[in-house]
Amino acid sequence: MISAIEIRNLRFKYPDGKDALCGVSFSIADGECVGLVGPNGSGKSTLLLHLNGILPEKYPATPNVVIYGRPMSETTAADIRRDVGLLFQDPDDQLFCPTVFEDVAFGPQQFGLNEEQVRNTVAKALEQTALLGSENRSPHHLSSGEKRRVCLAGVLACEPRVLALDEPTSNLDPRGKRSLIKTLKSIPATKIIATHDLEMVVELCSRTIILDQGAIIADGPTNQLLGDEQLMLAHGLEKPHILRHIHPH
Ligand code: ADP
Ligand code: MG
Repeated sequence: MISAIEIRNLRFKYPDGKDALCGVSFSIADGECVGLVGPNGSGKSTLLLHLNGILPEKYPATPNVVIYGRPMSETTAADIRRDVGLLFQDPDDQLFCPTVFEDVAFGPQQFGLNEEQVRNTVAKALEQTALLGSENRSPHHLSSGEKRRVCLAGVLACEPRVLALDEPTSNLDPRGKRSLIKTLKSIPATKIIATHDLEMVVELCSRTIILDQGAIIADGPTNQLLGDEQLMLAHGLEKPHILRHIHPH
């Protein structure tokens, strides 16, 4: 069985010279749901941007990102992008249409669905994100939590094999968060979720990767890693309250 995501010794330096990823390697199996945690600036967003080829500007000769067996390159990037739905950290980077409907419909339209199929797909995605009835609103007039839900609807409408979500619960109210967790549980896609919301990680992700300063510090079962208070504190994190009964040492 091929991996859904394979990252091989991925290094990335921003043009201003900042080393954001310093040789990251891991693989994620089809259908796995993995939490990606680490302090601000640890490289989580940079890593997710590599999964659908937004970064780097020029792909290396030896591919370091492989999605469902296809190495990322100039010729494969467009196809791979279709398989990887990326929810950006900042909703304003994702929303660009005058109405919610058009924004969510954009992906499915690109895939050549007919009008009725687009309408159905959009309706399903809006239902999953509790946005039915908001079709004609302007995304730019929504609250930040609502904007994030529109972005998620746009990603879900493309029905990607891989969901790469960058801080999906930020700005969501508790109900929005519950609903997001429930929606994600119901979707069989492979998921990688960068987040500070460790309670969500405990609930959704059987496996967690901890990043710090562009390197993987730990990769293993969520309860074991997040239950390790010393490990968490050493990397700017906190043992989630729901794991208080776990004592690894
Ligand atoms: P995280 O998502 O874990 O907070 P990022 O991937 O955003 O981390 O950032 C990793 C490192 O790269 C940080 O030191 C950050 O300051 C730097 N960085 C992020 N985006 C840029 C950029 N566009 N230009 C230069 N440096 C950046
Ligand atoms: Mg980030």
